[in-house]
Amino acid sequence: MTVAHLYPGELNIYADRGNIAVLERRAAWRGIAIDYKTVGLGERVPADADLLYVGGGQDREQALVTPDLGRKGPELAAAVDGGVALLAVCGGYQLLGRSYRERSGAELPGVGLFPLATIAGERRMIGDILLECELDPGVRRTLAGFENHAGRTFLDAGATPLGRVVHGFGNNGGDGFEGCRLARALGTYLHGPLLPRNPWLADWLLAQALAHSSGGEPPELPPLSDDLEAAAHEVAAGRARSRGGRF
Ligand code: GLN
Repeated sequence: MTVAHLYPGELNIYADRGNIAVLERRAAWRGIAIDYKTVGLGERVPADADLLYVGGGQDREQALVTPDLGRKGPELAAAVDGGVALLAVCGGYQLLGRSYRERSGAELPGVGLFPLATIAGERRMIGDILLECELDPGVRRTLAGFENHAGRTFLDAGATPLGRVVHGFGNNGGDGFEGCRLARALGTYLHGPLLPRNPWLADWLLAQALAHSSGGEPPELPPLSDDLEAAAHEVAAGRARSRGGRF
């Protein structure tokens, strides 16, 4: 399976390499080798990618990658359309939408993969966050993470969020949605060690990527003993719950 990590040198502030490490390790424990490729400024998105990853960054780094990302837009859209899995976090998530307007009023054009737009507000939305997700019909699971963003993201009518906010701010602190889902592509504000404390999401992404590489259905991955991961999830979820309200 091939994992392509976009802009690891620029969008990398939120344990983004750690998310890759989790994917590699959980695949290796199942005897699956990951061919890890990085995609920098001016480099093409590998045609054999099964899973794309875009990390988080501040406004400055976002502005730095925006022109290059614009050129990669059609390749990214074609990849997702063809069933490639994708995870975009925070700054990367914003830039995969249509646009991000900074506090200064400057507008960064996004690639328009996700049907959403983002506008920076005055107050940063910071803290532990808990979501309820249903990525597979009838299977409800929680995601625990940490958010830190000035951007307020608004999904277009009919767009699918990644989950519903149980505690925290989410996309904009108002509508109770968090993230966005489009086929096998997920965008989210949840960072910090997202995949280490939400191993089910790592496995979901791996299964989607395997489905792309085989051309079949997402396989059922052999379970792992996730005691430490479950404990980490519980600590993070407990911190989010202690915020005591949705917003
Ligand atoms: N500049 C964005 C924001 O603060 C990026 C978020 C991030 O990656 N911290 O909204």
